[in-house]
Amino acid sequence: MIEVLQGDITTLSVDAIVNAANNSLLGGGGVDGAIHRAAGPQLLEACRALNGCATGDAKITPGFRLPARYVIHTVGPVWHGGGQGEPALLESCYRRSFELALQNNIRTIAFPGISTGVYGYPKGQAAEIAVRLLREFESRFERVIACCFSREDAARYENLLSA
Ligand code: ADP
Repeated sequence: MIEVLQGDITTLSVDAIVNAANNSLLGGGGVDGAIHRAAGPQLLEACRALNGCATGDAKITPGFRLPARYVIHTVGPVWHGGGQGEPALLESCYRRSFELALQNNIRTIAFPGISTGVYGYPKGQAAEIAVRLLREFESRFERVIACCFSREDAARYENLLSA
């Protein structure tokens, strides 16, 4: 079952939250910065050992001081107009994150809107891909959460899910 929540993903008590990271995995702004601040400095240490992450791929660490047991770090595509493989890369972020979650016996998982902040992916198009992938994997989890920062973002997901 897919739930849409509005708020800060770092507060969620789930098995895993997904981080919209960058290729270095060494922290950044937006949701990445919030996750590193809330998890504490051990998260950066754990990320250093991962040697970065390719766009469209995902890697897992513990959640350290977060209520979430794990963080799945995925790297979304930077939007360059849509002709540089962005949709397939964004889809891959969700797919690889879910696959890692299944390998780690994760039953409850929350996603932010990957690539829809600084990376500039148009929010409507990103939400369509997100909802398609959440639907594809939802039966294999207890809870699949789309965690939206704004009310407007949450409404976009609700609309797609009710269609
Ligand atoms: P990207 O670089 O992949 O675009 P951003 O962190 O800039 O990543 O933005 C991704 C999405 O995460 C945006 O929709 C933004 O509004 C949202 N966001 C930012 N902070 C948080 C947070 N603490 N919890 C949930 N979502 C957040």
